[in-house]
Amino acid sequence: MRLVIAIDGPAGAGKSTVAKILARRLGLRYLDTGAMYRALALKAQREGLGPEDGPETAVLAEGTRIDLLEGDPPRVILDGEDVTTLIRTPEIGELASALSAFPEVRACLVRQQQAVVAEGGVTLEGRDATTVLAPHADLKVFLTASLEERVRRRKAELDAKGLTVDYAELLRQVAERDHRDYTRETSPLQVAPDAVVVESFGIDPETVADRILDHLPRL
Ligand code: C5P
Repeated sequence: MRLVIAIDGPAGAGKSTVAKILARRLGLRYLDTGAMYRALALKAQREGLGPEDGPETAVLAEGTRIDLLEGDPPRVILDGEDVTTLIRTPEIGELASALSAFPEVRACLVRQQQAVVAEGGVTLEGRDATTVLAPHADLKVFLTASLEERVRRRKAELDAKGLTVDYAELLRQVAERDHRDYTRETSPLQVAPDAVVVESFGIDPETVADRILDHLPRL
C-alpha cells in the first residue's frame, strides 16, 4: 500500500501512540521523525556539543547512520547501537528540540525522511510532517491537547520508565518547547491548511485513530 498519513502536533499530544496504531491497523511503516532528532542529539551530547552547536551537529549528522527498525517497541539504532531507551530522557528531548531549530541540522534529517515518504506506505509523525515532509500526504492530521493534559501524559510515561520528574519542572519544559517549536524560523509547528485537526484530550488512542480514519479518503 502506498498510502501516506502525516501527523503533526505539539509535544505530548499523543502523536507517536496514534501513529503506531494507524501503522499497525493499515500495515504501513511507522516513521518516528522525532526519534531521529533525539538520536542525533544523543550523539551530539556524547561529542560534548550543546544546544548552541547547530553547525557542528549538522557536520556530525552527515557521518551518522540512524536506522528505525520495525517492532514493538520500534527500535532506534544509532551507528549500530540500540539507543531506543537512551533517547527518551527529558534532557535529550530538550537538546533535540534546541538542535532541531538549526536549518542545517534539519536539512540532513529532512532529506532522509523525505526519501522514506517518497517510497510511500508510511505513517509519519513530527513537527513538520504535514508541512515539509509530506505536504502531499493522503491524509494530514494535526493532533492536539491542552498543555496540562500533555504534561500529565509525559509525566505518566516517564514515571512508568522509573524516571522521576517534578510536574512543575516538566510543565516549564514542555511550555518552553512549545514556544520554541511554534516560533522558530525554520519549519515552525503549524497547522497545514488542509489538515484535519483532531483533539486527543480524554479520548483513548484507539478511538483517536478511529476518528482519524473516518477522514481517510476512499482510495
Ligand atoms: O517528537 P519528539 O518529542 O520525540 O521530538 C523531539 C524534538 O525534536 C521535538 O521537540 C522537536 O523540537 C524536534 N522535532 C522536529 N521535527 C520533527 C520531529 C521532532 O523539530 N519532525
